[in-house]
Amino acid sequence: MISVYLSLGSNIGDKKAYLEAALERLNQLPQTTVTAVSSFYETAAWGKTDQDDFLNVCCQLETELDAQLLLTECQEIEKDLHRVRHEHWGPRTIDIDILLYGSEHIATETLKVPHPYMTERAFVLVPLFEIAPSLEIYGKSITSYLKTLNLEEVRKLQS
Ligand code: AMP
Repeated sequence: MISVYLSLGSNIGDKKAYLEAALERLNQLPQTTVTAVSSFYETAAWGKTDQDDFLNVCCQLETELDAQLLLTECQEIEKDLHRVRHEHWGPRTIDIDILLYGSEHIATETLKVPHPYMTERAFVLVPLFEIAPSLEIYGKSITSYLKTLNLEEVRKLQS
């Protein structure tokens, strides 16, 4: 079993319902169990600011799927949840990124792990820290990356 961390985001429609549906689908994947889920966090849209806020969540999986197959499965879930993709960083019903796949470093045409932008994004690191506070990325603690970011743009959703 490999321990994997994913980041999920949504910024159209019933965002919480999309994220919950995606988490449910991830838990139903073969040889895969969702073992931790963070709180949901509201985040001002990143990259393009003229769109609705994002809702983000991180989860941990234990899986026997290899990384490429897991990516394909995540993309199937995105497709099934009617992701509309008109523009880069534009609105999306659901986006699933593989942050970490065990301690592996992967750099193929379709998959880069650790996810290239994860250390620069508060909406990834704040929920990730909640479920994995002692995790290290490139040999550095999550807190050391968090210190360099504006944490005010990320708000925990009160449930
Ligand atoms: P986006 O949905 O805009 O985040 O980007 C999707 C594209 O990123 C897909 O074509 C993937 O093949 C590629 N990709 C590269 N590395 C990753 C990763 N770690 N997790 C998810 N998608 C990735």
